[in-house]
Amino acid sequence: MSLSGPRKGGPREGGPREGGPREGIASEEIAGDPEFRHLSTIAGIAVDLRYATANNFVGRDLYSPYDCAWLHRDAASALERAVAWLARARPGYTALVLDALRPQRVQQQLWDALDGTGLRLYLADPARGSIHSYGMALDITLLDEQGRELDMGTGFDDMTELSHPALEEGFLRTGALSDVQVANRQLLRDTMFQAGFVGIKTEWWHFDCGDRELVRKTFRRVL
Ligand SMILES: [Zn+2]
Repeated sequence: MSLSGPRKGGPREGGPREGGPREGIASEEIAGDPEFRHLSTIAGIAVDLRYATANNFVGRDLYSPYDCAWLHRDAASALERAVAWLARARPGYTALVLDALRPQRVQQQLWDALDGTGLRLYLADPARGSIHSYGMALDITLLDEQGRELDMGTGFDDMTELSHPALEEGFLRTGALSDVQVANRQLLRDTMFQAGFVGIKTEWWHFDCGDRELVRKTFRRVL
């Protein structure tokens, strides 16, 4: 896949700098910025941004009044490739986006909410930056022909080891995860990986678009 990264000679501020990350961009400014695409421009997906509802582990809407249904255009293109592949592999199936762009200020709120819980391993330290905050990560699951979420063995943001892709084989042996649940996760991975996304060891639902360190070095963080 191609990561366009910083554009040289563009008209905008915040271009590449020698030896350092690019400047951030405020959440309020992305609607007018050509580097970002709204999820409504991506055909064939369903969207339920859980942090824009009370249906999340913090129990309240963290996004209002900001519209966070955005992705960097590179991740948006990759998501289009993913859903096109899925439509061929499993006609009638669609992807359900659970989280996309997550501004730095919200990442900080989530980090604070997990203070003292022992669960911070499930979040990127805001100081370092979540790939979500660059619009280059997705939390995502799959829907069947009836629009039902596939059984992945745990729900989104279930912060237990049962959610860890790296531990699936063991859970399959003990029966804690079924063949169908692991196959459903594998279908999600196949869908995302062939489009250029990479997974992480601890969350079946999370995917980064391309190389994380390259993103941190060359993309603008949404503040
Ligand atoms: Zn995520």
